Amino acid sequence: NTYRFFSEEMNSLAVERMTLVRDLHNAVEEEAFRVHYQPRVDVNDGRIVGVEALVRWQHPGVGLLPPSQFLGVAEDEGLISEIDHFVLNAALRQYRAWMDGEVTPPPRLTINISARTLRMAGLPETLRRMLREHGVDAHCLEIEVKEGDVMDDPPASIQRLRSLQDLGVRVAIDDFGTGYSAFGMLRQLPITGLTVAGSFIRNVLTETGDAQIVTAIIALAQSLRLSLVAKGVETPEHLAFLEHHNCSIAQGLLYSRPLPAREMDRVLAEGGVLVPVKS
Ligand code: C2E
Ligand code: MG
Repeated sequence: NTYRFFSEEMNSLAVERMTLVRDLHNAVEEEAFRVHYQPRVDVNDGRIVGVEALVRWQHPGVGLLPPSQFLGVAEDEGLISEIDHFVLNAALRQYRAWMDGEVTPPPRLTINISARTLRMAGLPETLRRMLREHGVDAHCLEIEVKEGDVMDDPPASIQRLRSLQDLGVRVAIDDFGTGYSAFGMLRQLPITGLTVAGSFIRNVLTETGDAQIVTAIIALAQSLRLSLVAKGVETPEHLAFLEHHNCSIAQGLLYSRPLPAREMDRVLAEGGVLVPVKS
């Protein structure tokens, strides 16, 4: 007993989505993804202490697409774990190439995984196999999981994260404080690190609330002896704030955008030290 109007606009949105879904299925089939690497820098001496692997989609018609344009659809379509596996493999292969090359590899490689991948029963075994295949020491690998994905089902997460830690892999909670945090649970989680979201860093000098949140996360990480990375560090003022509050690892455009492997090679070949780009 009802009827609805279907507008032209809705129609073109639906078609756009269908095209995206079809293209993404093809992309997974053809492994049309690239991995870029963004340095994480010790602000005291500019040394690269790690790199984060970040996926891009090399779309045949549109060009290189960032994760925000396709990871949501990949999750809805059940394709996200295939992308995560592609990135794990590609990044470990690249890490091995750095080990075998003329350069000193960054001490740590960080890879993001989705909730769906974290829930896969075979994940620890897959990781063990990949590390062995590429001959990479488990201590060099850090897996980042979203806070919300972990807090969804804490008892199960504790088990899953522990099975990763048992391999010797490090585990960090990404964008800590942006989801719902159960502080009591945080203490029980088998994790080694946290990251501070760029959305908190962005307004750290103008919004008292954000500055308070960032200093609280820094204090929390210090007292729980967790490593901490501040992301979205874009200006010398952001850097000064972090230095003042003893947060020593920064990631952001002030040091470097995410780089294709070949450009990352060059940075490592030049000594793996970055200086802030003055803005
Ligand atoms: P993330 O893990 O928080 O990664 C950091 C994001 O911040 C990256 O966005 C990076 O390009 C961006 N960024 C770096 N420096 C700055 C800066 O100074 N300012 C600002 N505003 N942003 C900066 P990107 O590459 O678009 O990735 C977005 C998110 O997609 C990642 O956020 C991560 O959650 C997810 N992601 C990326 N690769 C993968 C993957 O292989 N698997 C899964 N499951 N998720 C991934
Ligand atoms: Mg991350």
